[in-house]
Amino acid sequence: MEKRVVRGTLVLAPQNDLLSKLSVLAMAARYDNSCSSSGGKRETHPYGLGNSRLSGICHTFSADGRCVSLLKILMTNSCTNDCKYCVNRVSNDIPRAVLTPEEIAMLTVEFYRRNYIEGLFLSSGIDRHPDETMERMVQAVKILRHRYRFHGTFTLSSSRGLRGSLSKRPFSWPTG
Ligand code: SF4
Repeated sequence: MEKRVVRGTLVLAPQNDLLSKLSVLAMAARYDNSCSSSGGKRETHPYGLGNSRLSGICHTFSADGRCVSLLKILMTNSCTNDCKYCVNRVSNDIPRAVLTPEEIAMLTVEFYRRNYIEGLFLSSGIDRHPDETMERMVQAVKILRHRYRFHGTFTLSSSRGLRGSLSKRPFSWPTG
């Protein structure tokens, strides 16, 4: 199993299995308080209904007042910064993972097809440069819009320290 090392911390490589990465990145997104998180962990009979996980789905409100569910994940919980309050700070020894834009788009569509969510709440640590991180997040949205024709709800949390062209022009969602 190939692993990358970022400042001494083991990182799950992009080719690691999607469920492992989703588990790490949905749990890491719990601490992003920009919208309300989904409920708690609940185990029922193995063949029963009503099992739930601690993280992964959050909610927001649409323009017409409906409450909609969003897949809430980080693109990566690797970060070169060391903000003391943040669980993803570089000095914290935790499992790290990274999703590619293609994987984010595919996961969003698969959750949508199962009727779990109507959109995506995407945030990220800054594993290289803030501009590059933001470009990859936008790339995921472009894949959703253009390849999958997905017109659900998107919420992107912008990268801290954004300096490039994305910070200078008003952001408009890709249309397709
Ligand atoms: S830049 Fe963001 S993700 Fe990185 S340590 Fe600071 S608050 Fe956490």
